[in-house]
Amino acid sequence: MNLNLTHTQLIDIVSGNANTQNENIIDVIYYDTRLINTTKNGVFFALKGRKNGHEYIQKAYDKGIRSFVVSQEVELPKDATIIKVDDTLRALQQVAKHHRNQFSYPVLAITGSLGKTTIKEWLYFLLADEFNIIRSPKSFNSQIGVAVSLLEMSDAHDLAIIEADISHPNEMDYIEDMVSPTLGVYTGIGHFYADNFESQKVHASEHLKLFKHANITFALKAHKSELRRNKINTDIANFEDWNNIDFSQLSYPNNRLLALHVAEFLGIEKNDLNKKAIQLPVLSNRMEVFEGQDNNLIINDSYNIDIDALEQALSYQFSSDERKDKIVVLDLSYVDENRKKAILNIVESYHPTQLFVIENNKVPNELLAIKNASILFKGSYRSNLKNTVQLFKNRKHETWVEFDLKAIEHNIRTFQNKLPEKTKTLVMVKASSYGTGDVNIPHFLQQIGVDYLGVAYTDEGTTLRENGISLPILVMNTENDAFEDIIRFQLEPSLFSFNQIDAFCERLKQDGITNFPIHITVETGMNRLGFYPEDIEDLITKLNSLPEIKVKSVYSHLADADNMDTDYTLQQIERFKVMKSQFEARLDNKDVLFHILNSEGTSKFGATAGFDMVRLGIGVFGFTSTAKEDELLPTLQWKTTISQIKSIEVGETIGYGRTFKAEEEIQIATLRIGYADGFRRSLSNGIGSVFINGIECPVVGNVCMDMTMVDVTEANCKAGDEVEIIGKNISIEKFSKRLKTIPYEVMTSINKRVSRVYLR
Ligand SMILES: *Cc1c(COP(=O)(O)O)cnc(C)c1O
Repeated sequence: MNLNLTHTQLIDIVSGNANTQNENIIDVIYYDTRLINTTKNGVFFALKGRKNGHEYIQKAYDKGIRSFVVSQEVELPKDATIIKVDDTLRALQQVAKHHRNQFSYPVLAITGSLGKTTIKEWLYFLLADEFNIIRSPKSFNSQIGVAVSLLEMSDAHDLAIIEADISHPNEMDYIEDMVSPTLGVYTGIGHFYADNFESQKVHASEHLKLFKHANITFALKAHKSELRRNKINTDIANFEDWNNIDFSQLSYPNNRLLALHVAEFLGIEKNDLNKKAIQLPVLSNRMEVFEGQDNNLIINDSYNIDIDALEQALSYQFSSDERKDKIVVLDLSYVDENRKKAILNIVESYHPTQLFVIENNKVPNELLAIKNASILFKGSYRSNLKNTVQLFKNRKHETWVEFDLKAIEHNIRTFQNKLPEKTKTLVMVKASSYGTGDVNIPHFLQQIGVDYLGVAYTDEGTTLRENGISLPILVMNTENDAFEDIIRFQLEPSLFSFNQIDAFCERLKQDGITNFPIHITVETGMNRLGFYPEDIEDLITKLNSLPEIKVKSVYSHLADADNMDTDYTLQQIERFKVMKSQFEARLDNKDVLFHILNSEGTSKFGATAGFDMVRLGIGVFGFTSTAKEDELLPTLQWKTTISQIKSIEVGETIGYGRTFKAEEEIQIATLRIGYADGFRRSLSNGIGSVFINGIECPVVGNVCMDMTMVDVTEANCKAGDEVEIIGKNISIEKFSKRLKTIPYEVMTSINKRVSRVYLR
């Protein structure tokens, strides 16, 4: 930051009152004491965000700051200049506005509810050779973030790209006033609008206020009428203008089109853009967590070095993993001195076991020798630390599944929005959470506040307890010899026969236990487990006579919820209602939860038959047949890598059984995945395919146990390249169809040896 303002100018800009006369220059604004490094010419703004900045005034003073902008009474030694304003955030924004107005180069602003960061990064990729761009870091798009981004503008730049987002009506007025964009990019509002807005229309209009004075705003055809309604000067991007590009083969086609269109407007050669269109880097600008070599836990956040993201990564590392040794690895190659100091200050305040500051990806041997620790990697996108992180991946096998935890949370909230407010959420985490891994997802579910977990068998529940899960856990299928563990680990068994109830109570009596929580399974038409309607009256009489147990819930399971014909499901719900009223009438304990819906059931009947709880499973991972398009997000990507590329001459055969014979010269790649991983043999010879660098590559020959060969003649690829098995191009539904099965089976048949990566 290089503001070059006198105190008098600053006071004037923020309409403040100062306690003394001071003619020093101000160059840098701080709002977080941990970022304070050079104190000369610095001013501290006491913002009221998550924490009240006024409580940190003394700390800033101790660090050497002598000028302050505040909105409350504060006490400081005499040599401090205190500038009082009504609202410190607005004051900061006024300074940002003043600073922005010093520059006449274009300011391009991006808003909408989706894809802003992707478009910003893509524009940067397309324009960086021609422009000196200042852009907002990561998704620094809030009221404070936008101001801070603007304050970084300088004479060294000739284009600013600023991302902006809002969560309340009228916020955009302040942002518009400070940014005054000359150009706009509008990405649209998704199906969901934030709670704070009346409707999708209102939400869109609020966003579009950003562009009311912009010369031109770029958007897609789909949003044309929205823009017209809001009287925005619009320039529409058309797919037809880019005939050389097969958008259907590429991810995020809309964002890609918008980025290309804007870059063309800004003078980049169309030929160049046609080439670059398929190279746009799909940045996973998200933190990844996975098991590495030598029992290390790897936290890879090597895509940026924003302070906010750094903070989040550190607090994740230091709060939620049981490994005691906390190692932090920073690559600060492209970071300026002041920022370096701030970053080091923050990291050191966490007291890591060891801190490595490396440059240009040079890895010290000492770091490679680390075992049983959690290791956090942070570096800027340019420092390419991601290559270093590869060294720490489990070398055993280079096939992995990624789970997007944010998408999982989104899906759960989507189901919850269909339910009456008091209805609780149980998430089924049987079969290692549908094959996603033992405890990571349950931990996450606990964090985001689901009410209950459910497992199929006792040992699944035991594993959860041994790994720190404290939520109540319902066990569906309890064997008599598991009672010991049920009691020891405080699991809650479902009981489905009179004999079983007797046996369990007998066991509880031995230990003198009373009121042990249990669940009752009732049969409404699945014909799997449970008491039949004719048993219910006797069952209630029995339950009333047993002090050892306390019924926490009564539930049943739907057999045909996926069917578009809902008759059978409605019959099951009716039968359940009858049993429910029997329990309500005669069971002494009135504190009982009733539940029958699974994911599909919730999607269809959440509003009317949610009762006290629903049991979500597959829907959490993104599928039900009835959810509206876009409503649930995909959560899983399965990937592998290429081990070798070969040229095959006409007449040669490939693999076991020689089932494929080359009729022309082709290139093939051998992939590190086979049927032992769950990439089944029935995918041999063109039934299956994978995507490499955006190109579809069919399987050639038979799938082997640990390897698979694909035709890569059309794909531009090399050994080590990433391969999509399931992901943006091949959905899990499509993959399941090729195997003539359902997503449940695909998810649970990805072998344990395939490593699991969780994106936070
Ligand atoms: C697996 C299971 C669920 C969840 O079913 P989905 O179809 O995956 O939503 C709910 N209840 C019971 C009893 C289950 O076994």
